[in-house]
Amino acid sequence: MKGKYHSTIITLLIFALSVIFFEEKQVIQKKTFLENHFNREEISYIHKNDIDVKDIEPYLQYQKFNIFKYHLYQEAREKYNFTYLESINYVNNPDYYHFYHNPQKALFVNTSYVLVNKCYYLDKDFVPKDLVNVKLYDIDCIVREDEEIYLKKEVLESYQLMFNAAKGEGVELMVFSGYRSYQKQKILYNYVYGQDDTISARPGFSEHQTGYAVDISRPNEGLTEFFEQSKSFSWLMDNCYKYGFILRFPHDKENKTGYAFEPWHFRYVGPIAEEIHLNNLTLEEYLFSNLEI
Ligand SMILES: [Zn+2]
Repeated sequence: MKGKYHSTIITLLIFALSVIFFEEKQVIQKKTFLENHFNREEISYIHKNDIDVKDIEPYLQYQKFNIFKYHLYQEAREKYNFTYLESINYVNNPDYYHFYHNPQKALFVNTSYVLVNKCYYLDKDFVPKDLVNVKLYDIDCIVREDEEIYLKKEVLESYQLMFNAAKGEGVELMVFSGYRSYQKQKILYNYVYGQDDTISARPGFSEHQTGYAVDISRPNEGLTEFFEQSKSFSWLMDNCYKYGFILRFPHDKENKTGYAFEPWHFRYVGPIAEEIHLNNLTLEEYLFSNLEI
């Protein structure tokens, strides 16, 4: 009887010790975790606000995560059903879809996914590298007496392949415009379109200045909505993503792109075109959900 009593005591003692030991270990682990990722001020903020370490972990892979904005991220995640990344992007860029409200410098400049729109602009002296005259390629383009068309070399390389494929299927594609300088856009916006924001981008805010945007149509329709009815347009809708292009201003996305539907305005974005196409996204939406902005 006495022996059994003793062994019960010992078992309880071992149990109590292991609980203490386990809890102690957890405290140490938590402390190490916090010290590895945060400075003293941040750690005291975490304690003061009673933030659970487990809830912070998914954010830590993002460089722009700021613990002092933690509650704003959580609030955005709940309200809009955002991912962790989206909540950080949302809090850091409250004007992402507020056209001409609080413009910022263009994002991801010098990549094929550069973002230039009514919220992100290029400096007036920005000229893309590797601009090439479209005449050097075996593609159809409109001939204007006073104007040569230029695009970035990588765009033309890919466009040539797309043109060949279309031609092989009896589909006509013609380049109507490509790179446009800041000065040219300024003239268009001020004098040709009378500063009408609904039909023209302000200088610096046109993605034609990146050398990645190309207007494609056929001589019959030109840059009009009638191009949408053509076989060329439906061919482009089915195939252009394979060559890194997207229709930049699709139907019903004006609240994301800032532009009404334009069947002729295409944009080279590189390999991300496929995901944009498959998920029916705009470039704005893709960047917001996939990259830190
Ligand atoms: Zn255009």
